[in-house]
Amino acid sequence: MAKSSRLHIAEAASEGHSPRGRRSTVIAAAAAHLARVIWPRRSLITGEAIAGPGGIEPDLWPSLDFVRGPICARCGEPFEIDVDRDQVCGDCLVTPPAYDRARAALLYGDAARAMVLALKRQGRRDGLALMGSWMAHAGEAVLAEADVLVPVPLHRFRMAQRGFNQSVWLAAALSRRCGVRVCLDALVRRRSTPSQAGLTADGRRRNVQGAFTVQKGAVSRIAGRSVVLVDDVLTTGATVEACARVLKRSGAARVDVLTLARVAGAGTHPI
Ligand SMILES: [Zn+2]
Repeated sequence: MAKSSRLHIAEAASEGHSPRGRRSTVIAAAAAHLARVIWPRRSLITGEAIAGPGGIEPDLWPSLDFVRGPICARCGEPFEIDVDRDQVCGDCLVTPPAYDRARAALLYGDAARAMVLALKRQGRRDGLALMGSWMAHAGEAVLAEADVLVPVPLHRFRMAQRGFNQSVWLAAALSRRCGVRVCLDALVRRRSTPSQAGLTADGRRRNVQGAFTVQKGAVSRIAGRSVVLVDDVLTTGATVEACARVLKRSGAARVDVLTLARVAGAGTHPI
């Protein structure tokens, strides 16, 4: 081939005119689209436009309080002092929860709250991949033994009102990350309970008493299985406690809980 022809082909390729050039342009566009899906362009905390990957303004990352260090082996409450890995907190010793272990990615501070509200009230889905990866990391031990992910359900009235269940979205994002399948119809919220907001721990417990049931058709997919309940926030634990109780009654071998965030001092915190 003449030198000028080779040059022409090289120039065309560099401009995306050759088949190979077009292919790389298409791949680059697809990668950019994927990056926008995976890495949102609006901050997950402030909603402001941000440049580059990450989903959060670089100076706001420290405001996210990831659960680290020693935690109660049962409820996941962080300890302030270094303890053995299987240490259980006083609350769990006195009143063991119906679930086996609860784990969360974040402590529910202002930044986590803003993210959860954007997910729940605005239906923002662009942070799900990131949230799913955080939850997969925080729940590594429970997911290693999991057979099925079960999102905490909404009552059908609330579902009709909101149009989506953020716990289902989180479970799906988590499933994509860890490969454990989601069972969408295992639990039903049969009573439309008033919002848990503003209630004390006792009030929350009474509020969700008898609110959940396992669908008859789903019992065979729950019995003998290791279930991971998925929710957005663990506040007092009353909701997951009520869910875990009915799942165990239906024969679940174990029920662990994995949430995006948890309130520090869960169990005593009126929200
Ligand atoms: Zn505990």
